[in-house]
Amino acid sequence: MTASLIDGKAVAAKLSRSIAEAVKRVTAEHGIEPGLAVVLVGENPASEIYVRSKTAKTAATNMRSLLYKLPATVRADELLALIEQLNHDPAVHGILVQLPLPPQIDSRIVIEAIAPAKDVDGFHPLTAGLLSTGLPGIVPCTPLACIMLAKHVHGSLAGLEAVVIGRSNIVGKPLAQLLLMENATVTIAHSKTRDLPSVCRRGDIVFAAVGQPEMVRGDWIKPGATVIDVGINRVPADGGTSKLVGDVAFAEVSQVAGAITPVPGGVGPMTIACLMLNTLKAACAQNGLAPPPVSGS
Ligand code: NAP
Repeated sequence: MTASLIDGKAVAAKLSRSIAEAVKRVTAEHGIEPGLAVVLVGENPASEIYVRSKTAKTAATNMRSLLYKLPATVRADELLALIEQLNHDPAVHGILVQLPLPPQIDSRIVIEAIAPAKDVDGFHPLTAGLLSTGLPGIVPCTPLACIMLAKHVHGSLAGLEAVVIGRSNIVGKPLAQLLLMENATVTIAHSKTRDLPSVCRRGDIVFAAVGQPEMVRGDWIKPGATVIDVGINRVPADGGTSKLVGDVAFAEVSQVAGAITPVPGGVGPMTIACLMLNTLKAACAQNGLAPPPVSGS
């Protein structure tokens, strides 16, 4: 391997320590204990793991964690009633509904029901609108994590060619908006992009958010480029087990890239740290306080 490894776990741990300190100060000086409510519907094993990590990290950063588990058979109106209750609960500053939701529930309606001030995932259309017009607001966690990791390598992203593969509302599009704000030159690629390998080879930084295991190959990458792998894909492994891989063929790409995030241990832990940062900022905003300084953010 020639690329240097971008250790998302270590960067996230540093950011989390700084958030935990800032939370302590906000609680001591203003009597505010930031609270994050996580709503888990059904028993999707991957969702249960994500929710466990999020609730553990909430407690580790000195915030209050509230977990609401609902059965997979819950009706949409019951879930919406819970969100309405959380919207009005002054002890709850952030609300996260773990996706995916069961088929009888339209996730768009659920996302739109969350009060924008408590939308710490940053998925609400109002939040997306603020971001795309460059107005202050909550920034979605995974795109924010990607930007922080890219800046960890480059310092400034100004003038760099950035290629984002994927145009979802939760990763690709907001990531492209953030890159524009950082003055990168941005290309967004997707399933209809012609000659994707050539498009990728333009990138000084390539972000892969596709959901296709190890799709990005070594010869798609300009030598020395930075590669941020957002993908989380579970694939079969030896002995009837399974393992997690990203959207990037790590073994090949790490021979060509200048820096690369691993999966697991790259974007994932940073995403959770950014969720904590968003919850702290939301708690401050809801109490008329400026966001506290957090080093590494
Ligand atoms: P998504 O909603 O399924 O979007 C995937 C995007 O990739 C779409 O825009 C799609 O293009 C594009 N795409 C699919 N196949 C392609 C191909 N063969 N060539 C080029 N583009 C292709 O997925 P998502 O929610 O953005 O998530 C992407 C990945 O990130 C997944 O692996 C997910 O698990 C992971 N993820 C990780 C985190 C984290 O914390 N690390 C957070 C969120 C998501 P079209 O629009 O043309 O269909």
